[in-house]
Amino acid sequence: MRNPHVLAIPYPAQGHVIPLLKLSHELVKHGIKITFVNTDFNHNRIMKALAGRGEVENEIRLASIPDGMGQGEDRNDLGKLTEAIMEVMPKKLEMLIKDINLSVSDEITHIVADVSMGFALVVAEKMGIQRAAFWPASASLLNMGFCIPKLLDDGIVNSDGTPTKDQMIQLSPNMPAMRTRDFVWLRIGDLPTQKIAFNHMKRNNKTIEVVDWIVCNSTYDLEPSTFALAPEILPIGPLLESNHIGYLAGHFWPEDSTCLNWLDQQDAHSVIYVAFGSFTIFDHTQLQELALGLEQSNKPFLWVLRSDVRSDANSDFLTEFEDRVSPRGKIVDWAPQQKVLSHRSIACFLSHCGWNSTMEGVTNGVPFLCWPYFADQFLNETYICDIWKVGLRLNLNEAGIFSKGEIMSKIKQLLQHGKFRATALELKTKALNCVKEDGHSCKNLKDFIDWIRA
Ligand code: UDP
Repeated sequence: MRNPHVLAIPYPAQGHVIPLLKLSHELVKHGIKITFVNTDFNHNRIMKALAGRGEVENEIRLASIPDGMGQGEDRNDLGKLTEAIMEVMPKKLEMLIKDINLSVSDEITHIVADVSMGFALVVAEKMGIQRAAFWPASASLLNMGFCIPKLLDDGIVNSDGTPTKDQMIQLSPNMPAMRTRDFVWLRIGDLPTQKIAFNHMKRNNKTIEVVDWIVCNSTYDLEPSTFALAPEILPIGPLLESNHIGYLAGHFWPEDSTCLNWLDQQDAHSVIYVAFGSFTIFDHTQLQELALGLEQSNKPFLWVLRSDVRSDANSDFLTEFEDRVSPRGKIVDWAPQQKVLSHRSIACFLSHCGWNSTMEGVTNGVPFLCWPYFADQFLNETYICDIWKVGLRLNLNEAGIFSKGEIMSKIKQLLQHGKFRATALELKTKALNCVKEDGHSCKNLKDFIDWIRA
């Protein structure tokens, strides 16, 4: 029998790299060799973010291939990025695999590809390699993609993905109602980008037909109606930060761990943790309202403000703001989020509701204040607020802004009776039970690992 050697390939975005890396660590624990393939651009960012750090974990072999975009091109333009990937990466991946396979003892036996990198599954099929799809977001979102043919047949969307009318729909009677204008592809960039996203999801439905497994970072308990509707999706989550020595080679920004010492000095359940993942940006007015809302809440807060969100336009304001609020408020470029969320001082999470942040908040029993920005984050907000009831949504004012008054009032409401924390702790227990011995997710993961090792 050949030793299993898995090639893992995420979509080149922060929220896709981290969970696939977590899954890769689970596989490594069982003696499976992993080659983790980033794009050259992200690989360089990751290496830069690690520069000067002490020990870096080295159980996973890192490799990289070009993403097809030019040096200065905007990789946050997901339409362009997706088109460039489809054009260039299939060939490059095939070449990489051929190179690795030159050493017989090293041959790639399996590919675990992000669903959004469906081309890798096609390459695997062509090269006779076993294959599995990994979905880093909610099963409900994946199932939404599976339902596109039905949405077209039922006349709910046009052939380009635009809704035929603005309405609420349910994919099944037990699933949350969705507004057609909030369909995930309509919440990504401008109209051409939305069309690219829609077509990409349709294409992924085809490429996923060639896999033996579809595993996702969720649990039966969190999305029971979806798993009933799409039993081919197997939950193996929540994927947790595994124990490894040294820094994880997957973050695009260097982690500022000084905030952990700062958290140690705060009272239990007192700190508002504010973080919006890797994509969210604000205009100046919105940034100011948020800052003033946090300042006037009179609570300690830890705010992740990425370097790319700071600009000349807001630099004077932020310098004065930091002087005023320090040391009650702390701002960092990038936090060790999982450690932050598990810290006893955290009271709540003001979040953009990315699925990873959602899972990380849930597994730490932290209540949410929801500030969705794009893509599936509106769907995740629905789960947090309406289904699991572990958070509150912020409402926009007439100017389309989350005002400081709204932010302050919702923080107060979220924290005042301990009701949300109690529900969040119950959900945490449920979620963590799934990854305990005999939990559903644990069993699915064991079966998945057995398949790889067979
Ligand atoms: N993250 C982090 N430090 C930060 C902010 C975010 O480590 O300061 C991590 C977070 O823990 C999560 C990922 O970045 O694993 C963001 O993924 P998510 O799906 O929440 O959002 P996205 O970036 O895809 O919008």
